Amino acid sequence: MKRSRARALGQHFLKNPRILNKIVRTIRPQASDLIIEIGPGKGALTLPLVAKAGHVIAIEKDRTLAASLQKKDFPNLTVLEADILKVDFIKLLEKEAWEAVKLVGNLPYSISSPLLFRIIGEKGLFSECIFLFQKEFAERICAQPGTKKYAPLSILFQIHFSTKFHFLVPPDSFSPPPRVESALISLRKREKPLFQLEDEAFLRFLKKAFQHRRKTLYNNLIRIQYPPSLLREAFQKFGIVNSIRPEQLTISQLVNLYQFLGEKSKKVKNP
Ligand code: SAM
Repeated sequence: MKRSRARALGQHFLKNPRILNKIVRTIRPQASDLIIEIGPGKGALTLPLVAKAGHVIAIEKDRTLAASLQKKDFPNLTVLEADILKVDFIKLLEKEAWEAVKLVGNLPYSISSPLLFRIIGEKGLFSECIFLFQKEFAERICAQPGTKKYAPLSILFQIHFSTKFHFLVPPDSFSPPPRVESALISLRKREKPLFQLEDEAFLRFLKKAFQHRRKTLYNNLIRIQYPPSLLREAFQKFGIVNSIRPEQLTISQLVNLYQFLGEKSKKVKNP
């Protein structure tokens, strides 16, 4: 395969047995699990998963790698040649009845973000997602309020999932080594989301609230065109000082603010 295509597909294969073991231990494959593996590559993770899980569906975009894995004859392994971003998860899972459905993978970093947005849209389908991401992206998903990495993505994912940052994986654990560090994180579906919200509208609000991180939250929200008097009323109601920066607010403070401003601005428009 041409190097440029391998690079486009993010082909960095895990070669460190200690790291592979740690990843498998974090996934905890069980006989009652259906595991969907994204980008199995040469099968470094797939084979230890097949040894313990009820069933593994491995989805690989690279035709040659998929064909070579298809030759491995395990009754509980299905290898599909497909682009994970185009897979219809609902159809794939409609006839499956498992105690847990886990979505896992050492992902090509270029698909991290679109994949996660799909998962948010179809969050009911997976009990747990365990991914190896670029370190900075992993940190952002798991970030807590008051830290530099805390961002709209952290808030949206933490509303639906309990997120955990497990460990860092250095570049020399892969062949060829990527230029960046990686990290393993898990997203475990909450029984009930922390708040019932319309995700897309809330994300739009969050993006505005965090648009200029050096500015105060108040100055960012003024740009959404909330009337200043309404903003002052909201900040006072929730005990938020005007000088606060967006990353200093907890998830519940941001949700309270969003819901209050949304309700009140509707009344201003349609009294
Ligand atoms: N799991 C293997 C390992 O850990 O050694 C390979 C990981 S490598 C970082 C990413 C794998 O995902 C490659 O095998 C690549 O061909 C595959 N891939 C890239 N884009 C994909 C996509 N959109 N859908 C499915 N597989 C993809």
